[in-house]
Amino acid sequence: MNRIYNFSAGPSTLPVSVLEDVSKNLTNYQGQGLSVMEMSHRSPSYMEIHANAKQSLRNLMNIPDTYEILFLQGGASTQFSSVPLNLLNPSGKADYILTGSFSKKAYKEALRYGDIQIAASSEEDDFTFIPNNDAINVRPDADYVHLCLNNTIYGTRFKPEQLPQFDNIPLVADMSSNILSEEYEVSKFGLIYAGAQKNMGPAGLTVVIVRKDLVGKAQDITPTMLDYATQIDKDSMYNTPPTFAIYVAVQVFAWLEEQGGIKAIEAINKEKAAKLYDYIDQSDLYQGTARKENRSIMNVTFRTLSEDLDKTFAKEAKEKGLYNLKGHRSVGGMRASIYNAMPMEGIDALIEFMKDFENENKRGIK
Ligand SMILES: *Cc1c(COP(=O)(O)O)cnc(C)c1O
Repeated sequence: MNRIYNFSAGPSTLPVSVLEDVSKNLTNYQGQGLSVMEMSHRSPSYMEIHANAKQSLRNLMNIPDTYEILFLQGGASTQFSSVPLNLLNPSGKADYILTGSFSKKAYKEALRYGDIQIAASSEEDDFTFIPNNDAINVRPDADYVHLCLNNTIYGTRFKPEQLPQFDNIPLVADMSSNILSEEYEVSKFGLIYAGAQKNMGPAGLTVVIVRKDLVGKAQDITPTMLDYATQIDKDSMYNTPPTFAIYVAVQVFAWLEEQGGIKAIEAINKEKAAKLYDYIDQSDLYQGTARKENRSIMNVTFRTLSEDLDKTFAKEAKEKGLYNLKGHRSVGGMRASIYNAMPMEGIDALIEFMKDFENENKRGIK
């Protein structure tokens, strides 16, 4: 089997063993004579998968019983609306920390529904850093504070130990690109949401983890489908859930459990990222684009000394089986997304290529 190393930011690489297991069961799931795709979502077989998904995620992330887990659709982007619609109560105020394109989109969407302010922003420096906690200004009566834990496009993250906390104001976090990658304490959040297509499975599934006491006070205009109370009441089956995506996510959760869980994968992720950053930092050709102390361990952003070389880099890397290394159009340069399923061999192959590319292109460098 000829697999490429896929450094895509999302949808992204999945564990090969999961893909193989899914394909083995594709037409005849566990000998039942049909595919999971073809099952009624009310059938006992599917209900078991659904329950399994919830329980596995609860175990992996150590999610307390005071939180509900929802499997929704519409991507993380739909949560940009669902969050304010459900949580802007009683004050109707919320404060947003802007650390990249996605948090800015979330902020703009929330403006439709209430009194929204920017608590801190790193936009003036092209989102290359995470604001210090003492630079975050939150109104004492805000209903929640929103932040994006890992900035997929810019390659920065809030480390678990630098997570801001505010007295009696729940923290709402977009964890789309770093869920299950390192340990964050769920109890420090009021709500966590994440699209599945970066670290959990195929596109089409969105996970929401919400503290129960925050639910039940949605604005009247909230569409039934976006009201967390509806979804909790119906166990994420008010309508047909994304059954196949949930099934694949179960396999990914099981794979992660086999790796030793989040603590174990965190150690590997840190090793993978450190290897890549160490190489970038000692090189004369490459430079990292995010501030060192705020670096993501999922999305590594860097560039060469010229835009032309950046283009050649992505092109030649692809010829070597290293795909999707071109940076996001708003940042340029390169981005290597190294989610849980990217093996160490992929990092080694990338560094090997970077060395060769540097040697070949040394002449242009002072
Ligand atoms: C990819 C991504 C999104 C958008 O997710 P969709 O599921 O495509 O809506 C939002 N936030 C972050 C941090 C992301 O990485």
